Amino acid sequence: MTSKRRILVTSALPYANGAIHLGHLVEYIQTDIWVRFQRMRGHEVHYVGADDQHGTPIMLRAEKEGITPRQLVDRVLLEHTRDFFGGLDKQEQFRESGDSSVLGGFHISFDNYYQTDSCENEWFCSDVYQKLEANDLIARREVEQFYDPVKEMFLPDRFIKGECPKCHSKDQYGDSCEVCGTTYSPTDLINPYSAVSGAAPIRKASEHYFFKLSDQRCEDFLKEFTRAPGRLQVEAANKLDEWFTSGLSDWDISRDEPYFGFKIPGTDNKFFYVWLDAPVGYFGSFRNYVQKQKALGREISEVEFLDAAKVKAAKAAHEQDPNSPAPTEMVHFIGKDILYFHALFWPAMLENSGYRTPTQINAHGFLTVDGAKMSKSRGTFITAQSYIDTGLNPEWLRYYFAAKLNGTMEDIDLNLEDFIARVNSDLVGKYINIASRCAGFITKFFDGKMASYNPNELPYAHILLTFSQQAEEITRAYEGRDFGKAIRLIMALADVANNYVNEQKPWELAKNLEANREKLHASASFSLNLFAYLTAFLKPLLPVTTSHVERFFNKTTFDWSFVENLMINQNTPDQSKLMLGCEIQPYKHLMTRVEQKQIDALVAANRDSLQATPTQPAAKAAAKAEIKPVEEKSETISIDDFAKIDLRVAKIVAAEHVEGADKLLKLTLSLGEEQRQVFAGIKSAYQPEQLVGRLTVMVANLAPRKMKFGMSEGMVLAAGPGGSEIFLLSPDEGAAPGMKVK
Ligand SMILES: [Zn+2]
Repeated sequence: MTSKRRILVTSALPYANGAIHLGHLVEYIQTDIWVRFQRMRGHEVHYVGADDQHGTPIMLRAEKEGITPRQLVDRVLLEHTRDFFGGLDKQEQFRESGDSSVLGGFHISFDNYYQTDSCENEWFCSDVYQKLEANDLIARREVEQFYDPVKEMFLPDRFIKGECPKCHSKDQYGDSCEVCGTTYSPTDLINPYSAVSGAAPIRKASEHYFFKLSDQRCEDFLKEFTRAPGRLQVEAANKLDEWFTSGLSDWDISRDEPYFGFKIPGTDNKFFYVWLDAPVGYFGSFRNYVQKQKALGREISEVEFLDAAKVKAAKAAHEQDPNSPAPTEMVHFIGKDILYFHALFWPAMLENSGYRTPTQINAHGFLTVDGAKMSKSRGTFITAQSYIDTGLNPEWLRYYFAAKLNGTMEDIDLNLEDFIARVNSDLVGKYINIASRCAGFITKFFDGKMASYNPNELPYAHILLTFSQQAEEITRAYEGRDFGKAIRLIMALADVANNYVNEQKPWELAKNLEANREKLHASASFSLNLFAYLTAFLKPLLPVTTSHVERFFNKTTFDWSFVENLMINQNTPDQSKLMLGCEIQPYKHLMTRVEQKQIDALVAANRDSLQATPTQPAAKAAAKAEIKPVEEKSETISIDDFAKIDLRVAKIVAAEHVEGADKLLKLTLSLGEEQRQVFAGIKSAYQPEQLVGRLTVMVANLAPRKMKFGMSEGMVLAAGPGGSEIFLLSPDEGAAPGMKVK
């Protein structure tokens, strides 16, 4: 084994405004497999992550839900950590015991999962910024942007909507048309309006802060950095070359208030753009982790991992004396869409602020399901929670994703039919099958004690040699993130093991126990030994199954030296590592088969959730105010589904007829602190003057809807079949505008 590596590993930070879905999981599963492999090899690995919690979308969503941004991101943090590893308390247990089998969810074994809205992160952001400024790498410039005069805020492109200049579809986003696919800038939209207030945006100038990426120092550094061997995948480095050719531009790192984020030091109303503080969040999480470890009596040197001078010195010392500790590494796993941020902005910022730069950046492709982009209407936009709730085994997905990942930036496809076939034939049919066919004999006839066979005798020696020859290739494949190749090699070995079992036919031998006792004992024992090797090879993918198998083998721990022993002593394997004479526990079934009906249920659950999501079919929900209410009773929903609907007591402060609308009244509703404009289809039952001053109930977090007559920012609740029979809901006396209905 080479000297012990010391690696800080990260996965990109998921944004805190939505659920974890299978597309996200590709990256966390990929990272986790690599991390577990490195841990098995005995290296020092610190795997950190965090929720990415700042920015305009979070701020606006919190406002819509009537909660603070911090309340929103705290709630999402609980959801994300539940999906990744079963919740923060599980991680605490893992950190204390080092036993990853305590983790739930998808078993992502972060050593620390934290948040970007933290004091640690704010400290690092300020520090990086101030050092860049001292290095003359911050510029200030006037920028003109779209501004919402009603909401009094600058609008990101995604919050400007209007008519597509090409196909004239209405309500398209400011960056691209979802109908014809054209991309454009918000200025090209016909009749643009703010998706926040519905107001027509105006152009407004403000001073912005830029990181001078175009500075020659940055360019010189980046050209060398990105071409260093092993730093980036070839296709990623080529992509970056294209960007160098077209020239690097300065990067706008500030946003004006109102903004949920960190204030830029020395300013009153400028905030760091969320994309600055997100990668710095790796450091924030690492510092938080170092402190938590310290509390457990474990010392990790933060500067040895983060300080450029320290890393450089360690490197020089290690080159002089290979016995001195290896210099630390920082390895990022990211999606190919954020390569620009991680391979350009991030290293250039670090290089010029005294921090260490990434050792390696590994980008992966996107996930498709059944060959197409994940789709909510087809039920293939599958959330992590729905997968677990449907009762599917997370290890199946870990195995399947691994089989598809090859270390490149190619997209990977989850083919649901192939998923069933592959898990059943490989994991259950080949791997688990070896133990389930052989373990019973050891328990039944030999008191659970494996035989002491001679590993140098044929056919043992021959088969062990085959395993040993592949072990090195499997190691290389894991290291290079070519998990697909590792699995092909491992499954070929499973075939070898199954062929051995088929030739030995222990079930036949058992029929004449008297004559075959020794042979049965030896062949069943050797088969189980091969099963143990396969388990060690699969351990990074199957943490839970492995922990059960380790218990089955009397609490043997499968680290990589267990398989490496095969490589070192091909001719005379260390007999202690072969588990000769090892006692086993009675065999319990290790894994079930995937059934088609489980997959059907999964797809159905995700299709249903689409209908239950109040923000999704905004058009339908808003239109509901104009047409008669639905008569039939709905299907049941959970309390969580109900909690998504923000119902508020509202006071009708103004009501008026709408010119050209025969069913609508325009209502101005007060929620205490703010006012909303809502178009309600209640004209056939109410005169405007009957309504002014009374209280009613409204859906306050319905996505704003642009209607022919203007923006509708919610919905009032009414009952009845329609016509003159529409009955507006009112609260009892004492209720005040803005009160939450629950
Ligand atoms: Zn269009």
